[in-house]
Amino acid sequence: MPRIAIIGGSGVYRVMDERKSTLVDTPFGTVEVFLGNLSGEEVAFIPRHGENHEIPPFKVNYRGNLYALMELGVERVIATNAVGSLREDYPPGTILIPDDFMDFTKRRDYTYYDGGEIKVRGRVIRGVVHVSMTPHPYCPEIRAAIKSASEKLGIELVDKGVYCCMEGNRFETPAEIRALRILGGDVVGMTGCPEATLARELEMCYASINVVTNYAAGVGGNVKLTQDEVAEIFSKRIEDVIALIEETIPLIPKERACPCSRALEGAVITKK
Ligand SMILES: [Zn+2]
Repeated sequence: MPRIAIIGGSGVYRVMDERKSTLVDTPFGTVEVFLGNLSGEEVAFIPRHGENHEIPPFKVNYRGNLYALMELGVERVIATNAVGSLREDYPPGTILIPDDFMDFTKRRDYTYYDGGEIKVRGRVIRGVVHVSMTPHPYCPEIRAAIKSASEKLGIELVDKGVYCCMEGNRFETPAEIRALRILGGDVVGMTGCPEATLARELEMCYASINVVTNYAAGVGGNVKLTQDEVAEIFSKRIEDVIALIEETIPLIPKERACPCSRALEGAVITKK
């Protein structure tokens, strides 16, 4: 049984050479998950946008994906997201491990607890559930493991930041980017939410590795990069991200001491 899963974002469509496809039935549809060996253990992998990048951010089956991973026994999820930078000092190629996020999505299925009932880890949960996202919106144990791995590999990264998730499908306007900067955002993307929240709702640990692909609208006016330069920086960084994930896996503790594993304790409001 895999204990760790990787959800690969843009540029990350394959993390292990040998892998087998498994179809997992969930209340949210059938999900294809790849199983293979990475860093000496079995891991699960889902390319978020499909193997040929055919699924747009607002159509990703976030609920199905996380539920399928739970059904396979996964406890820890490492995600990758391509992001735009809201800061001049985080140029394209920057790797950032966010420690908080803001969700500006509009029309996604963002919860498992819609007032009905759902089976989570062998337990039927009914009614109203509010999970806590504080003090750690992302799993502190996975984040610490990624940081240690980066130090071992000598890969520089920014180990905190606020990820802003926009609905898309278009990119942001200059005014939207100005607003996100004022609100305290560091990077912007379209896929980090509700993935992080849904993982928490299933008591799964979740952390993300963000790769800056470009400056957001109106940012970085003094830095001129061609599309080819940006693409080259990104593909080089994807290799670093995969190396980082491989190095991170053995550093993630087998036993979970983080609060993510107890996210439903005290969160279920409905009495029976
Ligand atoms: Zn955790």
